[in-house]
Amino acid sequence: MSLNYAEGLSKYEDKGVCGLKEIYDDPSKLDEKISSLAQFIREANHVVVHTGAGISTSAGIPDFRGPKGVWTLEKEGLKPNMSISFNEAKPTVTHMALVALLNKGYIHFLVSQNIDGLHLRSSFPPDKLAELHGNMFLDKCDQCERIFIRNEATSSVGQKYTGEFCPLPKPNGRRCRGKLHDTILDWEHELPLRDLDLADINSREADLSICLGTTLQINPSGKLPVLTKKAGGKLVICNLQPTKHDKSADLLIHGYIDDIIVKLAKKLEVEIPEYKVSSDQTKNMTEKTQEYIQDLCIDAKISTKVKKTCENFDVKQKQRTNTDRKFETSIKKESEEKCERQSPIKDEDVQKENDLNL
Ligand SMILES: [Zn+2]
Repeated sequence: MSLNYAEGLSKYEDKGVCGLKEIYDDPSKLDEKISSLAQFIREANHVVVHTGAGISTSAGIPDFRGPKGVWTLEKEGLKPNMSISFNEAKPTVTHMALVALLNKGYIHFLVSQNIDGLHLRSSFPPDKLAELHGNMFLDKCDQCERIFIRNEATSSVGQKYTGEFCPLPKPNGRRCRGKLHDTILDWEHELPLRDLDLADINSREADLSICLGTTLQINPSGKLPVLTKKAGGKLVICNLQPTKHDKSADLLIHGYIDDIIVKLAKKLEVEIPEYKVSSDQTKNMTEKTQEYIQDLCIDAKISTKVKKTCENFDVKQKQRTNTDRKFETSIKKESEEKCERQSPIKDEDVQKENDLNL
């Protein structure tokens, strides 16, 4: 369960603003906003969706900073009383709708902070998915760095040895003597490079970023949608609580994510498929572990437009100037002030900046 995940992480005090009051748009306003979102999607060429824990609460997995979130309750010395195992949880209607929206060409890439594996299990294609904080259903070999799908969630977190060895030979045919580790990041771990690069490139190239169920407080994940805005694109934030980047958004939708996505799919005439075990990428495996084929070459499977950016990626990295930082600092300051004003909790005000140079 996600509680075990949270308890498995090392101690870390700076968990951001927790327990902000939830906001609900009234039904007519909500409908109007979802119509605007549908129109933004129809007009956009490259749409990136960013998901957080808020999309998995209806699967029975508690979020972290909601009124009943893991970190919110932790501050009160409490624990969530509702939690099911990662193995028992099933992809929600939102997870399934995202697969359908991708297949219909309405969205083009998905960036997730979630470690619950529900995007993988919904059959979302790995080459269109960046999982920035790891996945309970993936292990990684510490020697050849290949990734393997598990048919059951890992019991360890923090990139620890799972007790299994790499099941495949190296490309040269010799046995790989690597050990398998879980892929779940602890607080201070660096993000997986392939996933972070793809998320960064797609966010910069997107003309529409849609955030679902995240307060955007963890960096660098939380900053990625703002890159779309900086590049001249639109930013839409769907969340019950205020987020760190509300001020940058072209559209803020306050409602349950499942409700928003079901209504959105209807407006776009997209049928949402049911979750099927037969399409679950962690099931139906003949072996206990199976190699997870992601394309590690980041420019192999993305659009020509994105590929062009990819070629200049190193240059771009170096060109991140003081102007970028000035912009980011001002956004951060405004957002922090806003969160502080709205927060019933006064003892913490800002998520520690991570060191990934975004
Ligand atoms: Zn290996």
